[in-house]
Amino acid sequence: MNGRVVVVGSANVDLVVDVARPPRAGETVLGGDLRRNPGGKGANQAVAAALAGGADTTFIGALGDDDSADLLLLSLECAGVRTDLVGRVGAPTGTALITVSPDGENAITVAPGANAYLTLSAPQVERIAEADVVLAQLEIPLGVVRAAASARRAGAVMALNAAPARDLPEPIWEAIDLLIVNEHEAADYALTSGPAEILASKLLGRVPAVVVTLGGDGCVVAERNREPVHVPGIPVNAVDTTGAGDTFCGVLAAALARGLPLSEAARLACAAGALAVTRPGAQDAVPTAAEVAEFAR
Ligand code: ATP
Repeated sequence: MNGRVVVVGSANVDLVVDVARPPRAGETVLGGDLRRNPGGKGANQAVAAALAGGADTTFIGALGDDDSADLLLLSLECAGVRTDLVGRVGAPTGTALITVSPDGENAITVAPGANAYLTLSAPQVERIAEADVVLAQLEIPLGVVRAAASARRAGAVMALNAAPARDLPEPIWEAIDLLIVNEHEAADYALTSGPAEILASKLLGRVPAVVVTLGGDGCVVAERNREPVHVPGIPVNAVDTTGAGDTFCGVLAAALARGLPLSEAARLACAAGALAVTRPGAQDAVPTAAEVAEFAR
């Protein structure tokens, strides 16, 4: 049985240029050819939940009325994501300006555009109420994250990929069933540093379950009243880590929506994240569910 996932989040067009080094203030540098890729944490995670996770996935986000919106809708639809409830607002589609240095280091400036105007309509609230897993991130207004959490049905999982790290009001903490963060975000929210297991244990004081992703080292899964589990990373030849975290989150949500236990869902998510880093791009790098199943064996 395929579970139902609703992803509530951002959609951006990524404008990417390779540079020898990023410009300093007041400086201009010449770069390589411009690439224009579909991105944004919400849209990336929706693509991953549908394509790599096999879930019946709806994306709820806001786009402008421009070419960038068309590019994003095409990518979502090619991945099998339902886009019937994507909102259109009178602002340009979100855009990320990204320079990539030869060492793979990214410098990113985001113009949120339409993402900042996302609000939830009655049909969107109804679709959220039908989901098995609601997955949100923090590139949209916090009020929308809170409203999405309130709209979920009893028994559904509210998963928050709390990235980029922001101060969260108490009602959002109280609404989270599963927090997904990388090591840096985990340290920010735990207000301390240390090994992922320690950070996760601290965060369990606020939410019932936490997954801390660890790049090539996989992830740590922590649930209240259970020993934390380290799910090892799968060694691969990484060529581009953009969107690995988003692929991980989408597949994790899809597997939970199918009813898999959290540690088993995390194993599949690690396999999907590892496959994603072997390919360039964000949404373009998302593997299929068949590839993930084969790779996770
Ligand atoms: P990003 O912001 O780059 O998308 P992130 O910091 O949110 O990523 P990571 O912890 O870097 O998230 O990666 C998410 C998951 O992807 C990891 O838990 C792991 O399963 C997989 N992964 C990432 N990098 C690698 C790698 N080099 N080799 C194998 N697996 C990887």
